[in-house]
Amino acid sequence: MTDNHTSASSTAWRSYRIGKALLWGGLILFLPAVPLLGMALHALRVPGNPAAIAAFALIALWLINGLWLAKFLCPVCCKRFFVYGPLRIGNLWARRCCHCGASAPINTR
Ligand SMILES: [Zn+2]
Repeated sequence: MTDNHTSASSTAWRSYRIGKALLWGGLILFLPAVPLLGMALHALRVPGNPAAIAAFALIALWLINGLWLAKFLCPVCCKRFFVYGPLRIGNLWARRCCHCGASAPINTR
């Protein structure tokens, strides 16, 4: 294995970890973040319902991250990590590649 391949693989696993952290973080922090962001938007005198704007914005960001994560290519087999089968069924909560079973190394730098 060359250094370039190892570096590219390390970068790919790092982006995988960021995507998964945003997925879990968005799920866990959604309820506390909506009122805080709503209050911030209200303080900035944003017209409309600030809480609804905050909620839709966070949901949109979470969905964009999910779509990006669904396109993640496995560094081992170069296939979609979370998508499998002829119907392109995806499981964003999967911890192993749906094709080769590879999982993110514990320590990548
Ligand atoms: Zn794979």
